[in-house]
Amino acid sequence: MTYEILQDLPSTSTPGDYLRLHFDPSSLPKKRIVGFLACQRDPLLRTLRTKVISSQLAKVTAAPPQKGRGKKKGGASIEETQEKTITSGTLWEVQTEDTVIFPEGGGQPCDLGTLYIPSSQQTLRIEACLRVGLDAVHLVRVPPDEIPLDNLEGLEVDLEVDWVRRQDQMAIHTAQHLLSAVLDTMELPTLSWGMPAHPSIDTPYVELPRALTWAEVAEVEQKCNALIREDRKVWIDVYAQHEGGGQVGREFRDIPKDYQGGVIRHCNIEGTDRNACCGTQCPSLKHCEMIHLIPPSTPSTSSIPALTPTRLFFTAGPRARRYLSDASRTLSLASQAISVNRTDLVARVEKIDELRREGQTQLTAVRSELQTLVGEQAASQGKIAWVKRGQQATHHFDFLSGVTGTYLEKVPDGVIVATSALQGGMTGLVVVQSRGELAKEVFDKLKKALEGEEKGRVKGGGAKGRFMAKVEGKWGKKGDEVVQRVIDELREAQEAAS
Ligand SMILES: [Zn+2]
Repeated sequence: MTYEILQDLPSTSTPGDYLRLHFDPSSLPKKRIVGFLACQRDPLLRTLRTKVISSQLAKVTAAPPQKGRGKKKGGASIEETQEKTITSGTLWEVQTEDTVIFPEGGGQPCDLGTLYIPSSQQTLRIEACLRVGLDAVHLVRVPPDEIPLDNLEGLEVDLEVDWVRRQDQMAIHTAQHLLSAVLDTMELPTLSWGMPAHPSIDTPYVELPRALTWAEVAEVEQKCNALIREDRKVWIDVYAQHEGGGQVGREFRDIPKDYQGGVIRHCNIEGTDRNACCGTQCPSLKHCEMIHLIPPSTPSTSSIPALTPTRLFFTAGPRARRYLSDASRTLSLASQAISVNRTDLVARVEKIDELRREGQTQLTAVRSELQTLVGEQAASQGKIAWVKRGQQATHHFDFLSGVTGTYLEKVPDGVIVATSALQGGMTGLVVVQSRGELAKEVFDKLKKALEGEEKGRVKGGGAKGRFMAKVEGKWGKKGDEVVQRVIDELREAQEAAS
């Protein structure tokens, strides 16, 4: 295979044959297009002197959120995990002849960085870089007291990429290609992938048609790390889009419809993978440092994986180091929380869980026995009964309903009121039950009496002889007095009737 080497950038430790051109580069415009930007020709180049092509006030006032990651589950915005940026001043769209700032694409979040203008000695923050068709557009923040950028056209500027962010995101992207290649050999095609932007230490993922077992995860991780230790070479083949070159490999990300007249890039990992890609890719696997795959949620001993499409989470590069430090600290904190050595943590947590389940079973049995006893005891009060509870362990409707149910088995033509209010607690519970219409009548009376001047404090209702309500606000002595009064009235009425 013949290819051309283009030497138009300052040299770095990236090997000269990293970028392999399969077309005449002189056919491309001087203003470099996305797919052929300096960051995509040499991923280790951190700064670049270049010329401004255009500069205009941005239509937006803040950088857009990372694609496909607007909101996290639970409502927290993804921006909370991104670097805090200033929002005062103005935002400018600056295009240059070439750039070391990668615009978002192919699953890799965009680079951030700085723009230095020698003529005015301004150093400005690049808050995002967007792909618009074939162009990379830098979003540059100009603070309130700085010179605006309306006369920048034709000026020389220096661009510098935020290297820590780039290194993190690039190592993960290359690691994803490696991981997907190893998974391909197990007939596990990657359906999609995603990564949270730096500085998050949240794990990226590849989506697979099924989950892996713990043993498979260990095997894949070991294979990937062996290839990283071999420091396999990575290089990019570039074709002119109109000449073809075709899509190869995983086709889950087709070329965007608004990317026409550009280039086709194939990322190769020596003896391992060849795949279409538009990201920045490390020149060899040593930059990935290591891969760690997060074990699946199925039991560690299970040999049967979940057979539905599943995200396999992983981490690599500098993020893997931060992730593992964080995981280690969490392990220490968890061990300290239950006063046990880290090595004994799992055994102790299993024991605690076993005791918790046992305790729960016993509590349920004791509650059931207690509700029967209390219900039977209430039967001795006759046809109008009131059970008053004030214990946390029995402060719920299930328990009170159990009591009223037992009472009715003993006194089928009676009516029972069960209340529960905790000392200092703010919500009282009321259950009224009978076999006939009586319960509704008693419930309505109670509701009216308990609400008094405070309309709406009793919330609830019922049907078929069983009524339940929560009583908001302080219950206290007064609550009991009110119920007692209603019960007394009922008993008086009953005596008068008999
Ligand atoms: Zn890629």
